[in-house]
Amino acid sequence: MTTPLTIIGAGLGGLVLARVLHVRGVPCTVYEAEASPATRAQGGLLDIRDYNGQPALEMAGLTGEFRKIILEGRQAMRILDRRGTLLLDVPDDGTGGSPEVQRGELRQMLLDSLPAGTVRWGHKVSGVRTLGEGRHEVSFADGTAVVTNVLVGADGAWSRVRPLLSDATPEYTGFSFIETHLFDGDARHPTSAETVGGGAMMVLEPGKGILAHRERDGNLHTWVMLARSQDWFAAVDFTDPDVATARIVQEFDGWAPELTALVTDGETPPVLRHIFTLPAEHRWDRTPGVTLLGDAAHLAAPNGEGANLALLDGAELGEAIAAHPDDVETALAEYEQAMFVRSVGANAEGPDLEDMLGDGTPHKLINAFIGG
Ligand SMILES: Cc1cc2nc3c(=O)[nH]c(=O)nc-3n(C[C@H](O)[C@H](O)[C@H](O)COP(=O)(O)OP(=O)(O)OC[C@H]3O[C@@H](n4cnc5c(N)ncnc54)[C@H](O)[C@@H]3O)c2cc1C
Repeated sequence: MTTPLTIIGAGLGGLVLARVLHVRGVPCTVYEAEASPATRAQGGLLDIRDYNGQPALEMAGLTGEFRKIILEGRQAMRILDRRGTLLLDVPDDGTGGSPEVQRGELRQMLLDSLPAGTVRWGHKVSGVRTLGEGRHEVSFADGTAVVTNVLVGADGAWSRVRPLLSDATPEYTGFSFIETHLFDGDARHPTSAETVGGGAMMVLEPGKGILAHRERDGNLHTWVMLARSQDWFAAVDFTDPDVATARIVQEFDGWAPELTALVTDGETPPVLRHIFTLPAEHRWDRTPGVTLLGDAAHLAAPNGEGANLALLDGAELGEAIAAHPDDVETALAEYEQAMFVRSVGANAEGPDLEDMLGDGTPHKLINAFIGG
């Protein structure tokens, strides 16, 4: 079967691409590994920035819908030390350019903006191969396959499309995050809720840290950050939430109880996420009929830019394809040239894990905030 423009991955980047194409009248199909939108909790707050994420949503004609899901006041940010003493407090005065939304609500907004059937759930790509003249065959884990004239890999860090373009593979940064949630913080975990404040709270030391966000309904979302090898984590039994939590919190011995409670009071099993990156200057030669966007193209350690870049990639790729309906190679070349420069710049400028958890933290970061 030959399909129209084929997008692999219904993450934020793939969905905004599908939306822009839909608005411009270009048919496309999105193949997504997950069985349904509800398969995996799409947790986390994302600040959608006025220089990449927001323009992307504007191109998608979704600014009005986006404004409806903004969580007011969440741009507040504070940094504490291990005793719980406030080192920096930046209130949300309403003038910030990066309003926060829940990732799951943003994804649902994009899904709702597409015609029914655009996303084919439960289609995990198992392999791709070149057929020549810009055509590709995409194989799925269920044994089916499609052939397409335009293939876009929007399938994240472990992209199955990337090998068509590059030999690069993600490398472990040396840092991992452990995620948990406390629900209805104000009523059920008032000390923790007060400690986190109105938006984001960080406690940073060299090699370790705790970051927490106040999400919708006063839910508190905690990320523990640790510089340890993958082998170190492999020795922690994450199949037993109590054992894993006790082992992780041991690394924060001597920290104030209101900080460690963000971990020990977690109401969801701790989820381990190793942090991987692609080479900072990752790029490829123009290859007919295929390209990448978002994490598949430029996976970086969390720095507040990744989802925003994925959105802008998707929107700009959609605009480029719509602008060159009879010349997809020109569209892909224009998109890639701008995307390569943009992603290298954004990832070089944003704070990296070294700024947050290297020697000199937290004062390096505090000085960066105070300096503007
Ligand atoms: C801990 C953490 C915190 C972060 N915080 C922020 C933040 O605050 N702000 C920010 O801007 N960014 C943040 N990021 C980065 C951000 O999450 C990513 O950059 C962004 O999600 C990339 O979007 P994407 O659409 O490229 O890929 P993804 O969101 O990864 O979506 C890829 C999609 O492809 C699907 N898929 C994967 N493999 C296959 C396959 N074989 N077949 C079919 N489908 C497949 C997946 O199921 C998924 O739906 C964070 C990342 C991490 C790890």
